[in-house]
Amino acid sequence: MQKTYQLTTFGCQMNLSDSERIAAVCEMMGYKPVKDDEIADLYIINTCSVRQKAEDRVLGMHHKFVELKSKKKDTKVIITGCMVKRDIRQNPEKSQRYQESYYEELKTKMPWADFFVEINQINKLPELLNEQIEIKIDEYFAITPKYNSKFQAFVPISTGCDKFCTFCIVPFTRGKEVYRDYNQIYNEVLTLVQSGVKEITLLGQNVNSWKSRKEGLLGVPIPKFRGNIEKDYLDFADLIENLAQIDGDFWLRFTSAHPYDINPRLIDVVANEKNIAKQFHFALQSGSNSVLRRMNRYYTAEEFEEKVNLIKEKIPGVAITTDVIVGFCGETEEEFLDTVKLCERIQFDQIYISEYSQRSGTIAAKFYKDDIPHEVKEKRKQILEEVLKNGLKEKNKKLINTKQKALVYKTERKTKNLIARTTHGKDVEITNSQNKEYIGQFVYVDIKDALEFRLFGEI
Ligand code: SF4
Repeated sequence: MQKTYQLTTFGCQMNLSDSERIAAVCEMMGYKPVKDDEIADLYIINTCSVRQKAEDRVLGMHHKFVELKSKKKDTKVIITGCMVKRDIRQNPEKSQRYQESYYEELKTKMPWADFFVEINQINKLPELLNEQIEIKIDEYFAITPKYNSKFQAFVPISTGCDKFCTFCIVPFTRGKEVYRDYNQIYNEVLTLVQSGVKEITLLGQNVNSWKSRKEGLLGVPIPKFRGNIEKDYLDFADLIENLAQIDGDFWLRFTSAHPYDINPRLIDVVANEKNIAKQFHFALQSGSNSVLRRMNRYYTAEEFEEKVNLIKEKIPGVAITTDVIVGFCGETEEEFLDTVKLCERIQFDQIYISEYSQRSGTIAAKFYKDDIPHEVKEKRKQILEEVLKNGLKEKNKKLINTKQKALVYKTERKTKNLIARTTHGKDVEITNSQNKEYIGQFVYVDIKDALEFRLFGEI
């Protein structure tokens, strides 16, 4: 009888991408996926630690797995993703001891789990489960993912983060930045484009800090290489410039970019390459310099705005999206108003606003007080949402009567109309076609109307 697995994913695009690799390993071991109402031989939970709520949902699976294991004793449960790691790094011995005691803590909290596996060790799953596979997988990045879509794909290019923003747990859960090999990235993107994938999103916690050592490239033929070979290493701008040369009709996107690592050359590459989508997502977090310092963000509000202005100047019509945290430790009314004013000036195309919530294990949890009342955070969030909407009303109206290239990616649940995404990452509802054969194809849409978060148009 064929062995079965169920995979549950919490969190961000990075985790969704990791899960595509986990699924591939499961299938290499001969497991097939089964639905929720069936009992599987293997359960894998890919966890997220960004918010306490996501961790609580995993811990809340206690009864499900205790009951399940009483029915089927040989069922295995594997926990992977961010909850598994708490790396403190400065001293390797100390780090190892800390990690071991952290495992003990996890075992006490989740006695029903059989293994805790760091995500970058997921290639060792067959060894752990005593399963035979035909080809040994040397490392996480060498796994060929089981992509969820035929026309959109995530390609991770780095893991970890070295920035240590004080509110963020990622540097502890994902560890130090590790950059994927240039040729491996190039080959994955090439294969995807050749198989007809239309939208490829490069992923990294800090995607634009990617580097590749020059020595690593010597002796390896790199098709149409255009980087500055005199440099000691290739940087992110070199990488995307080269990927954009791949022959085919596709869009390259990347997330999440850090403002510190956005430079004029990267902006030029995005401006000049037709295969790179004209959208930048980089997190502002706050428009107040004192808050940015407390967050350890490596830039001032003025530097951030200067980069935005340069992007707008070089790429007319570009979309800029961002993340903002409201109510960070000690955020005064005046500091919040600095954020409001900056957002009004910039007119972002989207702001993902979160109310600050303390994560234990972060630097902020250790040194600052989460002292802004919930009602104040909520109010500040509403104010910023209004700022965003007001800006978008004006901005999106300017797109009426333009023709936009867009990738059809789904249908609207209620109207059954097609939904496509423009190069700027904006959703457009196509009102003159419900033909599902367009899904996965680029179309040209005449924009007829625009709301804050949706455009309407005809093919
Ligand atoms: S840049 Fe900051 S917010 Fe982003 S992953 Fe790194 S530490 Fe977290």
